[in-house]
Amino acid sequence: MADSEIAGAVKAALAQVEIPGGGTLAGYSGLSEVIVTKSAIALAISVQPGMEAAFGPARVAAQKAAEAVGQGRKVLISLTSDKSPAMAAPTGQAAAQGRPGPPPKSAVPGVKNIIVVGSGKGGVGKSTVAANLALALAAEGLRTGILDADLYGPSIPKLLGIEGKPAVREDGVFSPHEAFGLKAMSIGSMLTPGQAVVWRGPMASSALRQLLRETDWGGLDLLVVDLPPGTGDIQISLFQQAELAGAVIVSTPQDLALIDAQKAIDMIRRLSIPLLGLVENMSYFVAPDTGKRYDIFGHGGAARAAELFGMPFLGEIPLDMAIRETSDAGRPVVATDPDGPQAKAFRAIAREILSRNPQLRA
Ligand code: ADP
Repeated sequence: MADSEIAGAVKAALAQVEIPGGGTLAGYSGLSEVIVTKSAIALAISVQPGMEAAFGPARVAAQKAAEAVGQGRKVLISLTSDKSPAMAAPTGQAAAQGRPGPPPKSAVPGVKNIIVVGSGKGGVGKSTVAANLALALAAEGLRTGILDADLYGPSIPKLLGIEGKPAVREDGVFSPHEAFGLKAMSIGSMLTPGQAVVWRGPMASSALRQLLRETDWGGLDLLVVDLPPGTGDIQISLFQQAELAGAVIVSTPQDLALIDAQKAIDMIRRLSIPLLGLVENMSYFVAPDTGKRYDIFGHGGAARAAELFGMPFLGEIPLDMAIRETSDAGRPVVATDPDGPQAKAFRAIAREILSRNPQLRA
């Protein structure tokens, strides 16, 4: 069946899903358009604030109904109570000027602190660092989770060897995956690997909001969020909705990567998120046979850049075959060889973050 026919079938199926207050989802004014791609179906249900729990069963029923007609497509349904920006109560300066402001930030249930890991561009090893850093922080005794928000290249499932979708409870709340002692959720579990996501910005932001807020994190000290690279809408909406303890920026030593990193740093500054520091990845290469160290990219660029940007330099991770192989095999090096030199590099960065930010241990 063509995608448009599937969309019609989904809408017909939603006409069987009852909603609180009577009527069905198909006729509900808060239903978004139904987006159908070769391998996924996505739609959003927007409800009045306070009605999320009441709509939980309708979302579960809609999920099943869409799966039944989706011919194997993965289904992602987000349920939000976002007021539209035009309806949101203005706050602060925006209110004074009569403009609508962003919705107020609120805590994420079951999570004490959130740190985000970002980069100016893809391919610098941001996800590899996020996963191993989360494991290194867990090794320091913090109950830690990871949320893969990299919609356009979700690699946390592969890095942590996670397969399949997370379980969904009767009330529509996700139970996260568990991997190497981390609680883990990924937008990638909702989509077919390699699929280019066609969601519009608000759709993606609302899916992310759902993963963040409607997951049973179960009492974490720290949630590490692997951001999409760059400085787009998704980052901004995440920064605006949740109180963040800080951001870690990953860069390679090359000048060009550092120029990109600077854009990410500028964005985080503008949004008044604390900058925890800069990590230099693929910093130097140690030949496995001779042990000789090669600064192939002109190592040290990130340390100099951190000084220039007026932010802490957190440490460097070598370009290392074991890091690549363990990442690709879903056996992250910090968990599988905790005393090896690669794990030590990640653990040193975790300790640096915690010693500079003791509030993260509280
Ligand atoms: P990003 O999230 O920035 O796009 P990834 O974490 O997905 O980057 O890494 C891109 C590729 O580089 C992956 O194949 C990964 O295994 C590899 N990689 C990342 N960091 C290192 C490293 N320090 N040494 C060797 N390979 C690395």
